[in-house]
Amino acid sequence: MDLHHDPSCPFCLIEEGKAPAFLIHNDARTMSFLDIRPFAEGHTLVIPRIHIELFSDLDHDTLASLFIAASEVARLLKRRLGVDGINVLVNEGKVAGQVVPHVHIHLIPRKPGNEPIFTERVQAEESTLEDLRQKITVG
Ligand code: AMP
Ligand code: ZN
Repeated sequence: MDLHHDPSCPFCLIEEGKAPAFLIHNDARTMSFLDIRPFAEGHTLVIPRIHIELFSDLDHDTLASLFIAASEVARLLKRRLGVDGINVLVNEGKVAGQVVPHVHIHLIPRKPGNEPIFTERVQAEESTLEDLRQKITVG
């Protein structure tokens, strides 16, 4: 049995060459291909070759190679497409909008005049931030 792939995962099928993709970058541990429902022209996904669902479960080697590939592809998008800026995004879990259960980094090219992905936000109370800091870091 192949422990690195999930037969029901669309990105594993791409990795195995069983489903088509518009590949733009490959290395020993990662693959990068165009998103078929792009948020912007050149929207690219960078995936590890092994099937891991969540970003927070990645081992250090896979994590490092994923971000190195993402940075190289970001440079490619800037050079080849004249992209001005890029949102680098991971959706962690269904509630965060993750639909494909195989970790992927979104590289979303942005142009001058595009709306920021984070819309206007409200300044938090210091006490709230301190409570949260303690919950996250203490114990
Ligand atoms: P997420 O919501 O973070 O899970 O993002 C999944 C992304 O994968 C979406 O932006 C989809 O448009 C994209 N997607 C799904 N299937 C494919 C595919 N076969 N090839 C390329 N992109 C895909
Ligand atoms: Zn997979």
